Amino acid sequence: MQRFISFTLFVALFAQVATAQITDPKATEVWNPKPRVVTPGTATQAPSDAIVLFDGSNFSEFVSVKDSATAVAWTLNADKSMTVGAGKGDIRTKRSFGDCQLHLEFRAPEVVKGEGQGRGNSGVFLQQRYEVQVLDCYQNTTYSNGQTASVYKQTIPLVNACKKPGEWQTYDIIYTAPRFNKDSVLVAPGHVTVMHNGIVVQNHTEIKGTTEYIGLPKNVAHGKAPIQLQDHGDLVSYRNIWIREL
Ligand code: MG
Repeated sequence: MQRFISFTLFVALFAQVATAQITDPKATEVWNPKPRVVTPGTATQAPSDAIVLFDGSNFSEFVSVKDSATAVAWTLNADKSMTVGAGKGDIRTKRSFGDCQLHLEFRAPEVVKGEGQGRGNSGVFLQQRYEVQVLDCYQNTTYSNGQTASVYKQTIPLVNACKKPGEWQTYDIIYTAPRFNKDSVLVAPGHVTVMHNGIVVQNHTEIKGTTEYIGLPKNVAHGKAPIQLQDHGDLVSYRNIWIREL
């Protein structure tokens, strides 16, 4: 009994102390850890702690997907961009990434050719598996779950934020990779948030698995993996690509 009373008294006192702390604004201030200072980039410039994947000077951070020993066949342009063309092949980063913030700029050809999926088609494959579609959907209709900024054949973008072909556009992608346990079972799906030209078009969208052209998404365990840019036969250009690991 004595012990019970002491315990009850302790709980009552603890509750009183806890309540007293909550009335103090300082009690809920967290001072540490302090987020480190990062200098934001201006306009198209990368932030101070980003890994610059492409700044227009060379392909040093990329290799051909087909054969990593082969030089990237894409065209390096005088305006610090690069352009893919039919048969030049997909390229991927040499480095592998997991959770990240990815920035890139892309441009569909100014001279419009083709329609639907055949106009300015390329793609950003997160971890070489999950495609955020790159397409020219400015006054160009295709299946909604395959249009610009869709998670290809999975999730329709919230809006169509496309600029005119020939104009530079931005993607800011925040990606959380899927988690697999030691038995290769998916225990937490991946998620992606995409801002297209500064407009949220995917808001913490669950990734259902690989973005397949034919068939349903698959979930096969994997670790960190490269970022891949697609050759879909159209003259799509990219510039100013940087990434921050999260
Ligand atoms: Mg594509």
